[in-house]
Amino acid sequence: MLKRLVSDAPRSVMAPLPGIAVRENVMGRSLYSRTGHPAGEVLLEHYGRRVSFAEGRNEEPDHVMEIGEDEVFLASGDLDDYVNHSCEPNCRLQFEPDGRVFLVAMRDIAPGEDLSFDYATTTTRAGIAAFPGWRFQCRCGAAGCRGEVGCAEDLPLERLRYYAAQGALAPHVLHRLGPLLALG
Ligand SMILES: [Zn+2]
Repeated sequence: MLKRLVSDAPRSVMAPLPGIAVRENVMGRSLYSRTGHPAGEVLLEHYGRRVSFAEGRNEEPDHVMEIGEDEVFLASGDLDDYVNHSCEPNCRLQFEPDGRVFLVAMRDIAPGEDLSFDYATTTTRAGIAAFPGWRFQCRCGAAGCRGEVGCAEDLPLERLRYYAAQGALAPHVLHRLGPLLALG
């Protein structure tokens, strides 16, 4: 399949806010807020080389993030690699029309909180088929933990609707699940 060419030329990436840092905890490395952040604040930019599923397959699954139809980010080596999953996240991804992806606070975040988004908001069944390691046992500890991190198609409809209302679903996920959300 002919893919559009995406330049790997360096361009400026938004610097993460100074109130954000990485720490080690029982879950491994995680990004957290030192200072607290208000809902709606743009916290950092997710970036990395953009490649097809096939090109990303040799990478560690947790170093690859689905960002479009047959398109993934490879790890950037930067802070955005350490944003963990939660089934009740405090952040969401925001996809800009030019392809840039940002992490945005979905509610007020208190000092000391880990930053998280729901990986299923940007993961499709096709993505899981290409990267089976993306389906894993969840230990996020949230009261509403689903027990397993999977894809958007597995989300309960109410959760999908909540994320849609928050603008938290990736465009390629909305494209696939939009008709479902429009029902009743
Ligand atoms: Zn969970």
